[in-house]
This record gives sequence, structure tokens and C-alpha cells, in this order.
Amino acid sequence: MSKLVNPKDLEFLLYRVFNAEQLTEFERYQDHDRTTFDGILKTSERIAEDFFLPHNAKADEHEPQFDGDKVTTIPEVKEAWKHFAETGLMSARHQYDDGGMQLPSMIHMACNAYFMAANPSTAGYPFLTSAAANVIHAFGSEQQKATFLPPMFDGRFSGTMALTEPDVGSSLGDLTTKATPQDDGSYRIKGQKMYISGGDQDITENIVHLVLARIEGAPVGVKGISLFIVPKFLTNADGSLAERNDVQLAGLLHKMGYRGTTSTVLNFGEQDNCRGYLIGEANKGLSYMFKMMNEARIGVGLGGAMIGYRGYLESLDYARNRPQGRSVTNRDPLSKPLNIVEHTDVKRMLLAQKSYVEGSLALCLYAARLVDVQEGCDDEQQASEAGVLLDLLTPIVKSFPSYYGPRANDLAIQVLGGSGYIREYPVEQCYRDNRLNPIHEGTHGIQSLDLLGRKMWQHNGKGQQLLMARVQATLKSALQQPSLKAMAELYQQHLNTFMQTVMALGQKLQQGEVETALANSAVFLDMMGKMVIGWLWLEMADKAAQQFKDSDAAEDQQFLAGKLQAAQYFIRWEMGEINHQAQLLTSFDETCLSMQTEWF
Ligand SMILES: Cc1cc2nc3c(=O)[nH]c(=O)nc-3n(C[C@H](O)[C@H](O)[C@H](O)COP(=O)(O)OP(=O)(O)OC[C@H]3O[C@@H](n4cnc5c(N)ncnc54)[C@H](O)[C@@H]3O)c2cc1C
Repeated sequence: MSKLVNPKDLEFLLYRVFNAEQLTEFERYQDHDRTTFDGILKTSERIAEDFFLPHNAKADEHEPQFDGDKVTTIPEVKEAWKHFAETGLMSARHQYDDGGMQLPSMIHMACNAYFMAANPSTAGYPFLTSAAANVIHAFGSEQQKATFLPPMFDGRFSGTMALTEPDVGSSLGDLTTKATPQDDGSYRIKGQKMYISGGDQDITENIVHLVLARIEGAPVGVKGISLFIVPKFLTNADGSLAERNDVQLAGLLHKMGYRGTTSTVLNFGEQDNCRGYLIGEANKGLSYMFKMMNEARIGVGLGGAMIGYRGYLESLDYARNRPQGRSVTNRDPLSKPLNIVEHTDVKRMLLAQKSYVEGSLALCLYAARLVDVQEGCDDEQQASEAGVLLDLLTPIVKSFPSYYGPRANDLAIQVLGGSGYIREYPVEQCYRDNRLNPIHEGTHGIQSLDLLGRKMWQHNGKGQQLLMARVQATLKSALQQPSLKAMAELYQQHLNTFMQTVMALGQKLQQGEVETALANSAVFLDMMGKMVIGWLWLEMADKAAQQFKDSDAAEDQQFLAGKLQAAQYFIRWEMGEINHQAQLLTSFDETCLSMQTEWF
């Protein structure tokens, strides 16, 4: 079996649960069929296994080096980048006219799953590049598109997103990088950016930074932020490289994980000669960047899910092969030891991982399917509803996998015992890599405020209604299957508790008691994440139970039985916490809110 993703799982999710073939009914995807989908998935799996996985540990041990002049990465990263670019995956989502494959987002996401599981640091370079290219494609001028997109798509140029500054992280409205208009229509950029992933490297001939900056005289706060293309090397009219732009690498940052991706501090305009080109209209930069960030947030969710998934498969393989101890009823010291996968407590840890990571992957694929309906469906209402639902779910797609992925990796370490703690086994690196995900692209806390303070009530709560309609449809179907009735009824109880909580929070916000209502937003984010993942597990169980009746191959039945058991685990074991969370939220518990800073 693949070390990266269980192929049965991907097939089940894509074709059974989310009906990928139905997407080919949209005009945009009509040239595709299951054969083309499977072809690109197979290619992705092969390239991930042959060119990304083998140097995952090496890139961790041999971080990129900066000698004060240039950065050096290990050669395997360049090789992987080259193979990735050759697949056409960088532009796969785009239209044929733009050099793309018109590949559905859901299939693209499944392809990316292989790379994220194989080597998240090396995958970071192409993923950032395609996200940056997508922003230029959506909002750039024709000239900007013609100059930068072809070399970004074919792998000559890479891309970055440069938002964070040393003193400005979560609160982007405070950023200070300046942009001064020039007579030729360009801008002079001045400021310092920090933590910029891929901000310098020796992999590509040029780097296209997308930089948030404030044009002199712009309004304060988020309404005065503009977005600029700032290339490392300027380009001539024919696309060839011209002189070096005034973007200097101040230094590399040394991280806990994700060590293969450079993390940089960049100085823009030290010599007052950094040229930038405005994207779209002035002062709309943050909304343009949100296109990239929303995409990146789903990508971060996928990272959380797939690094967790890799750890799960590693720990499962270890548990199946590690003999240790005997059953609690066996007192014969001469009897053959059991493999640890037979011990109930190890099963618990494996089931928890399975429920987190397979549930998270399902969520990421579902979000990508919403993108497909939003972008490809002719029916305007369906397309717009998909967009509204995606908006609501984005903080959860970012946060659930990035919080529970590292928890899965923590359990994987525990399954391996001492072996889990040493660097000869990959699970400790998985944990270190995955620990980034709740921090970047909007921290866990910021996502929770976005969800409870904004997304829940956007479009007059339409997103909630759309979500509930889908949840009810799953419940109705599951309740009709005798084997799922008890699970579905339990889910229904949790759903009622959740809805009562939402009402209480909504009322508090309507009364204008914002601080009290949002005080426990992280609890709400977790609670709603569990509701959504529980729903997807019920949906998977429903499809698995239907398929179970039609399949007679033992291997398929074992796979489906595993899905049913994991659904039961998640709904019975993990969702129980919802009652306690509802209690904290509906009583507007003030333990954290009323804590005084002096009391720490
Ligand atoms: C490895 C790595 C790669 C990165 N890559 C990039 C990149 O490519 N481009 C880029 O622009 N940035 C990048 N970042 C930066 C990243 O997005 C920021 O670290 C993140 O947004 C948090 O900002 P901060 O570190 O300044 O923390 P802070 O904003 O100072 O937050 C610290 C803590 O305070 C909490 N907090 C802050 N404000 C609030 C609030 N209003 N309410 C409640 N809690 C709050 C946060 O949740 C967090 O727990 C990267 C970071 C890392 C570590």
C-alpha cells in the first residue's frame, strides 16, 4: 500500500462520497472523465513517492544555508520542483487558453494530498507559487499576467506571499511597509517583512513576491492596504531577466519543523530602489490577498490532514509489526507476544488518528468540491450557494485539520513508544512539521473570531441554513439504515445542542455584548469543527453501509467496516465533548475573560 494515502480511501471519497464524476457534467470539466482523473492522480502519486518522499528527512536535517550572499538548498529540492513543474500541476486548475488543464479543484486537491504527505516543506514552494499565480491571474493587468504567469506556470519563477512584518502578524491593519508612486506608474517599496516562506532560494531563476504595503496618504487600517508585485529580478519587455531589484535577504529563520522551506526576513528598499507594481486598484490589496489566503487556508487544512495521515499510516504499519506483551487474560509468559495493534489501547490511538485524518481529508475535498460548483456550475443559484457555504466553512477547513493533525501525530509517536521519539522514525518530524499549521495563515484564535464574529452571520446566516440542509439530508438517509440508526440519533442530539448554542450566541451578539459573546470563540470553533467532521463521518458511514451490501470482496468489506467503526468512534467518543462545550458557551463562562493580567 502507498505510504502516503490509502488508495482505497481516496477512491471511496472521490467517487463514492463526493461523486467526482458528476463534475464532468459542468462545461468547464466536460473533457475529463474518471480515466483522466485517475491518470493525473497516479502521476502525482508517482512523483511524490519518487521525488518528494525520499528527501523529506534529509531536507529536515540539512536546512537551507545562507552564507551572507546566497542561499543553498539541497539539490533534491530542485529536482522535485522540476518534476512537479513538468506535470503541469502548477497551472492545472486554469483554462486551456491560459495553459491549464481545467482540472477540477477536488481532483487537484487529491493530487496535492500526495505531495503534502510525502514532503510538506518541498511541496511548499510549488503550492505558494500556484497560489500567487492565481492572484495575478484573477486581479493582475494583462501585461502583468503576460509577464509573470508563463514563467510561474512552467517553473522558472516561484511566488511568495509577503504580509507579515516583525511588529505586525495577526493585525494586518497595522502594517507599515510603504509604497511611493513613481512617474512611470511603478512604486518604490520600503519596509521589512518577516517569516516569508520561500522568500529566497536557489531553486528558481526569479522570485515573484506579492507584497502588502500602504501607499503614502492611504487610509489607516485594513482599508489602506494595497498589493504589489515585487520581483527579485526585474524583467525586460521580452520576459528575460533584467537587473536585480532592491530586495535583500536579511537572514534565514531556523524552525522547529518545515525546515526544508526557507523562512526569510526580507528588506525591501534598503537602497531606496525597490520597484513594485500595483495589482488591481489601490487600497483593495487585502481583499485580493484574501483570495490567495482563502486558497492557502484550505491548503493549510490539507497539510494538517496529510501530515497527520502520513503519521497514522506509519504508526499503523509499526503497530502491525511490533510484537510486545500479551492479552490481559493471557498469563503464559512462554506464549507468543501479540503485535501491539491487538492491544485495545493501541487500537484507541489508531482509531482516534484515523477519525481525525480521514475526516479532515474528507473536509478538504468537500471544500474543493464547493470551489468546483462555485466556479463551474451553470445554475447560478447552486454556484452562489456553494460560495456562501465555502465562506462559512473556510475557518473550519483551516483549523480542524491543523489542530487535530498534530494531535494525530502526537498519538502516532505514542503508538511507536520510544521509537516514536527518536529521529530514525519519521513520526517525530511529522509532529514538528504539522505544529506550524495552527500558527500560520491566521492563527487558531484568529480563525475562531472570524467564524463566530463574522462568518456565522454573513449573508443573514444563509451559510448556516445551507449547512443544516445538507446535514439534515445526511441524517435522513442514515436514519433509514438500521445499522446506522443509533449513531445517527446520537448525532441528532449533538446537533440540537449545537443549534441551541448558536442561538444563544447569536442573541448575545444581537444585544451588542460582543466581548462576552466572543470570549470563548476557540471553544466554539472546536465545537463546530466536531459537528462538521461528525456530519462528514455520518455521510461516509452512510455511503459505506450502502456499499457494504453490494460488495463481496473481503478486502473491500474490511475497508468499509473500518469506515463504519471510525464513524462510530468519532461520534461516540469525540463528539461527547460538545455537551461540555455547549455548557461553557451558553453560560457565557467568564473564567478567561475576567482573568486579570496581574494575576498570572
Ligand atoms: C514557518 C512560518 C511560515 C510563515 N510563512 C509566512 C509567509 O509566507 N508569509 C507571511 O506573510 N507570513 C508568514 N508567516 C507568518 C504567520 O502568518 C504569522 O506568524 C501569524 O499570522 C501570526 O502572527 P505573529 O507570529 O505575529 O503572532 P501574533 O499576531 O503576535 O499572535 C500571537 C498570539 O496572540 C494571538 N492573538 C493575536 N491577536 C489576537 C486577537 N486580536 N485576539 C485573540 N488572540 C490574538 C494569536 O492567536 C497568537 O496565539 C509564517 C510563519 C511561520 C512560523
